[in-house]
Amino acid sequence: MYIFGPVPSRRLGLSLGVDLVPSKVCPMDCVYCECGRTTLRTSVRKPWADPALVIAELKERLEVLPEPECVTFSGAGEPTLNSGIGEVIGFLKSRSPDSPVALLTNGALLEDEKVRKDISGVDIVIPTLSAVSQEVFERISRPEPGLTASGIVEGIRKLSRESSSRLWVEVFIVPGINDDPREVALIRETLLQIEPDKVHLNTLDRPASEPWVRPAPTERMEELRRYMRPLDTEIILPPKSMGAGKLRGSEMESGILELISRRPCTPEDISQVFGVSEKEAETYLQELLNSGRIFVEKRERGDFYKIK
Ligand code: SF4
Repeated sequence: MYIFGPVPSRRLGLSLGVDLVPSKVCPMDCVYCECGRTTLRTSVRKPWADPALVIAELKERLEVLPEPECVTFSGAGEPTLNSGIGEVIGFLKSRSPDSPVALLTNGALLEDEKVRKDISGVDIVIPTLSAVSQEVFERISRPEPGLTASGIVEGIRKLSRESSSRLWVEVFIVPGINDDPREVALIRETLLQIEPDKVHLNTLDRPASEPWVRPAPTERMEELRRYMRPLDTEIILPPKSMGAGKLRGSEMESGILELISRRPCTPEDISQVFGVSEKEAETYLQELLNSGRIFVEKRERGDFYKIK
């Protein structure tokens, strides 16, 4: 299964997810990753998922679903590692030229001209830039050897110059690692040169791969937002209820399993994604717990359900 959702995305509305690499294949192993530890750290590009199979599944899903507000390349790995991404983007844009396609990327491969060409058809590129100094980059993102913060900055800079896609840069704040005045000043200075359309300040919302990672307090996020001026900066807030679904019974169970295999969810998340009450979401989750297919992890923000 390469397609998931639609899920309410905090910035893209009701978004149909496309996962082009197996979980968790990524050039980095970020301490804040919500998909768990990276199992294969690599920058090798290849058809990790066969683009023809991804397109076939997309066709099937788009026929039965209400039109999503966005189709987003994301998931539990780095989408640009799939050398067939351009083919899948080409299919989506030829099927529905006006429907937005977005790409969430860690920016590791953007220095590569071929990668920038492959993704040139997307409407919105959202690369992450959470560190500019190599030392902080290594502590927060634990990249594979040879990957540099300056290379990522250069890739985003080139994309900004060459591409007509909207560029929204995400800065993920991990208190105690990248929120000190020096690093924040470097990030701001770099972004002022890149001139993205928007800056998204983000912080932890679900369990991180390292349990010691905590979200930045709201007041600190607000302070950073003001500091980023004159950059157009938003703090990413949890999604509002969007009521996507009409699934019931075993279809609903499969939908929930598909979603939480990619990211841990609370009953509130399930209720928002599938348009059911929280009580109903809890009943489905309890059944899945009883069947031993999922487990629960208690966190400050609530009970997060995860796939076994
Ligand atoms: S947050 Fe993104 S870049 Fe970092 S490890 Fe997770 S998937 Fe990879």
